[in-house]
Amino acid sequence: MIEVKKSTGLRETRLLDSEELPIKALRKRLTISFVSISLFIYLITIALAILVSSSSLNLSLDSNIKRLIAEIQPAVKIENGHLSLRDWETNARSQNLQIQHVVQLYDKDGKLLEAYGISGVPRLTDGRCEQAGLQFAHDFRSKFIAVQNAGFLQIQVDAKRTDEALIHFLMTMLALIPVVALTAGWAGYIFCGEAVMPISENFRVLRRFVDDAGHELRTPVSIISASVETLEVVLASDDANVRIVEKINRAVARLKYLSSNLLILATMDSPGMQLRYSTLDLTALVLQVCSDFQSAAANKGIKLQVSVRPNLELLGNSDALQQMLSNLLDNAIRCTANGGTISVNGQSNATTTSIEVSDSGIGIPEESIQHVFERFYRVESSRAREQGGTGLGLSIVKSVVEAHGGKVSVSSKLNVGTVFTAQFPHRT
Ligand code: ADP
Repeated sequence: MIEVKKSTGLRETRLLDSEELPIKALRKRLTISFVSISLFIYLITIALAILVSSSSLNLSLDSNIKRLIAEIQPAVKIENGHLSLRDWETNARSQNLQIQHVVQLYDKDGKLLEAYGISGVPRLTDGRCEQAGLQFAHDFRSKFIAVQNAGFLQIQVDAKRTDEALIHFLMTMLALIPVVALTAGWAGYIFCGEAVMPISENFRVLRRFVDDAGHELRTPVSIISASVETLEVVLASDDANVRIVEKINRAVARLKYLSSNLLILATMDSPGMQLRYSTLDLTALVLQVCSDFQSAAANKGIKLQVSVRPNLELLGNSDALQQMLSNLLDNAIRCTANGGTISVNGQSNATTTSIEVSDSGIGIPEESIQHVFERFYRVESSRAREQGGTGLGLSIVKSVVEAHGGKVSVSSKLNVGTVFTAQFPHRT
């Protein structure tokens, strides 16, 4: 499992161990696909086996019929102008032979003259007999031939046994489906486990790297930041030095921003890890973050207006929400020209609490709007290079809002401005 260690003061979110939930889900999905494909192949195989068996059984019945025709046909006599097998039947009876098939004689017009053996279908038919409306519960294979130009001899063979054999085979194969599914599931689970192992290892290494990089960056950044504060006082008398210190300050701020984003990212990418939620004072949180950005806004001559309803409460994770708002404000300041305006609004209605950050900046091109929340997406690389940025900020905003059960939306117009709205449902 993954644990989150927190210390007061410094924000600390550390991954201690990782349960690879996405990898487990991937393994499960692959196993299910493997079982489905195996079952599909098994069913197709059954269907083909039935088809092949039934046609070879029919072939054998047909050759049986041919043999019977060759045996019986010479015994057909003509009595009073009609075909007859009476002598043949008398002969068979005298030898105590049972006629196991249907033997029928018809006149030239297809009228039944004589029938022997088990009851059959009283009509001239070749091939499989239709059963609809007849009293037979199973198939006959049938053939007829013209005899001496005086009528027809028809032999039908009962196909009950072959039908039963096929049904028995089908039932056995269907009954084996659970066994096949379990075996395929077991084999699939083992194979898929082997297949996802390298992915799982890469995923774990990447996440640990992001987590470590976030933490490793933070300490030197804090030291630089503190040293720069001291230098600011010492070097305040020299304008050139002040400018250098300002540059360092900006660089340090970017590094801080990057390290916090990396930490939040590592947390968000660990579905096994639960963000700790508590009922927090959203009004205070918004005011605090906005005040942190006041000087950055003032440096660009941007007016940062904050309007937040008093006593707004939210069940949430304070670090994550601060990062979300910081990312929105950081973007707004970077994307708004000197002298522009940024407004932050915190509101609540019967169902949701919302935070809205709007700016009078450069806006987002229409074709980019649907992509801005994707990880590493940046609007025009030239613009991104000018402004700095990693393409992570808004993807983190989205992850944080969604982790709180909310949704984030954006509307923007080029050279007019952009509005980001994060809406959180009331939860207890
Ligand atoms: P980055 O860290 O590179 O800014 P983001 O994910 O925060 O990455 O933003 C994605 C893209 O959306 C960036 O290229 C950025 O220029 C653009 N963008 C974000 N916020 C705004 C805004 N308020 N106005 C105009 N463009 C914005």
